[in-house]
Amino acid sequence: MALERFNIHLAIPQKVFDKIPVNRKLAFRDEVRALKALAVKINAGRPNEEMTVIAKRHTCHHDTNEPCESEVEI
Ligand SMILES: [Zn+2]
Repeated sequence: MALERFNIHLAIPQKVFDKIPVNRKLAFRDEVRALKALAVKINAGRPNEEMTVIAKRHTCHHDTNEPCESEVEI
């Protein structure tokens, strides 16, 4: 069975993210959640199982060497 597999890793500047309208942020979150509900673990139950149902975000301070804020599940 083929899978449509996404790897999305985005670091958006806080100032830019803050300007995105709330309804657009919520629509993105809702769509990610809907797709996550359709996602499967590759080789589920086998020794080579891959955790391929991951969608998390956090506020990151890597650019200032400060500790990052906690990751939250989308
Ligand atoms: Zn971080």
